[in-house]
Amino acid sequence: MSERKAIADQIAQHLEFYRDLGVRWVARGRADDSAAGPEKEKRAAPVSGNAHSAVHTVAPGVSRVFASTRSMFDAVPQVNETLEQVREDIGDCRRCKLAPGRRNIVFGSGNPHAELMFVGEAPGADEDEQGLPFVGRAGQLLTRIIEAIEMRREDVYICNILKCRPPGNRNPEPDEIASCEPFLLRQIAAIRPKVICALGSFGAQTLLRTKEPISRLRGQFIEYQGARLMATFHPAYLLRNPGEKRKVWEDVQKIRDYLLSLR
Ligand code: URA
Repeated sequence: MSERKAIADQIAQHLEFYRDLGVRWVARGRADDSAAGPEKEKRAAPVSGNAHSAVHTVAPGVSRVFASTRSMFDAVPQVNETLEQVREDIGDCRRCKLAPGRRNIVFGSGNPHAELMFVGEAPGADEDEQGLPFVGRAGQLLTRIIEAIEMRREDVYICNILKCRPPGNRNPEPDEIASCEPFLLRQIAAIRPKVICALGSFGAQTLLRTKEPISRLRGQFIEYQGARLMATFHPAYLLRNPGEKRKVWEDVQKIRDYLLSLR
């Protein structure tokens, strides 16, 4: 496939993602130079032999999702906001149809200056009840995963793509993501973590603007907003598929080793 065709495919995939979100227009903004990257990055080979892959190697052990995560759609403010300011702006949110059914907004918890941030999908019943992320069975497993790399829950920051529980724990819908994701991007901008660990396909695909399956995204660092993103399987998936725990263990060891290398 020619480079031109590969770029056209990536743009189409990017636009389809936003169409699925319900976005019906495209703003004409200033070109984002950081999205293009140096010439050699654009020519870099895909991680696998899949010519349609969005994931390209840019340095040993680090990849980039070709469709940049910074785009004309993103609403990350340029000012230095604190988490408290982001929370204040959310207020008693009524921006989407999840508001009437929720008990609590689950903003996030942990160290506001964390080097490591976990991003899940959406609160479940326990989280909705307590107003805290990952406190149910999947959360207990996440705590054990964090402790396995010799960190504590209070060292990291934990949140979700959606801040309100979808009824019956159904999958988040595009309009709900569109309403909520800007707050997640502002949380990331406020915390400025070194590593973001996206839990499950939903979190990874939303953050990376890709439809690549989690099985292809996981296990490698991907450049993301000045941080490194590691996608891995969701703890709830591990509860159903305990045989996959070893892969998550390998992924979080890479995170631990990278963070140790920065010391
Ligand atoms: N699953 C998630 O994705 N997030 C939570 O907070 C709890 C379960």
